[in-house]
Amino acid sequence: MENKELEARAEKYFNLYDTSPDMYLSIDPEDGSIKECNQTVVRKTGYTKEEIIGQPVFFLYHPGCMPRVKKAFQSFTETGRVENAALEIKTKDGSTIPVLLSVEAVRDQQGNILYSNSCWRDISQIKRWEQQWAAANKDLEKKVREQTHELEIINKELGHFAYIASHDLQEPLRTVMSFVELLRKDYHQQLDDNAQKYINYISQATEHMRNLVKGLLEYSLIGHQRRLTTVDCKAIVTEIQADLAAHITESKAIFEIGELPQLYGYETELRLLFQNLITNAIKFQKKDTAPLVKISAQQENGHWKFSFTDNGIGIEDQYTEMIFTLFQRLHLKSEYEGTGIGLAHCRKIVHLHGGQIWVDSHPNEGSTFYFTIPN
Ligand code: ADP
Repeated sequence: MENKELEARAEKYFNLYDTSPDMYLSIDPEDGSIKECNQTVVRKTGYTKEEIIGQPVFFLYHPGCMPRVKKAFQSFTETGRVENAALEIKTKDGSTIPVLLSVEAVRDQQGNILYSNSCWRDISQIKRWEQQWAAANKDLEKKVREQTHELEIINKELGHFAYIASHDLQEPLRTVMSFVELLRKDYHQQLDDNAQKYINYISQATEHMRNLVKGLLEYSLIGHQRRLTTVDCKAIVTEIQADLAAHITESKAIFEIGELPQLYGYETELRLLFQNLITNAIKFQKKDTAPLVKISAQQENGHWKFSFTDNGIGIEDQYTEMIFTLFQRLHLKSEYEGTGIGLAHCRKIVHLHGGQIWVDSHPNEGSTFYFTIPN
């Protein structure tokens, strides 16, 4: 290579060295003095090259980080290198720059250290982002805490309201029902057909309202008397099957029960959850088809995932969220009996256990209700 070419190349390297965003220094291993540095050191520290060269490198470090500097130099003496030691340097005007120090020894053929190449990477911007991120995070955490607290209060108030309303509504309802019954019994002869018909309507409507109020009261009471116990899910299903024996025989329902676990949970609530899902699986059947109900559970990422599958009428995609809301039904009472409370109960019970509930369904092809209960 010709001299000129060599010179051009050297100039290119010098340019690269001096315009690098990182600060480079060559240090004498004997006395720790600075032998050479690039322009970035000059630019960032505010010292001239003359003020830097020949000085011990320690003079550029912030006094607060000297113990860490000593540790880094000890590691250099032992291994011949330092990788990303977090330190701070001090500029001429007294400000501080956080840096990552990396050092690599340059050796002769015998392995003796000639000098060490040090690199300071300015991480002020990263630190600023870190601080902004931490502040934003703290802010967010505070907001979430405040909102959770507010929601808890609102939730409690709503629960209390539902309890009071449903509890107090029962009494006047009972009065209406008993007087309708008295009317029917004592004035049977005096009432014409129309009056009898109207009394029947009142009776049916009050009976429906009684069921709604009862359901609402039960809903508000879910989780009130929490008693955690070991719950045998298989035993619960067997007991529910026994309770519903007449209904099961009448509908000719067939069950396929897989392995079911023992859980640590709220027994009364879990029983209600299972019962609602089983009753629905039998109830929402296609005409002239015997219900086939499959129940199973499997362990997945720290929770049990239960599935209740039926071969019934199924649910259109657009309603699969809505059906878990209080009093939401997709059918007339004359088609399928009910109050629209069962699945709201189920959701509240699953949430009480820290799980999730959802349905996968296709009209006319049946539904699978899934829920999870953490282990
Ligand atoms: P209810 O059974 O008293 O109507 P639920 O809250 O249990 O109230 O259910 C809400 C609605 O969700 C039901 O009215 C029905 O339309 C739909 N649904 C629930 N379970 C099933 C099922 N297994 N198959 C089809 N539809 C269902």
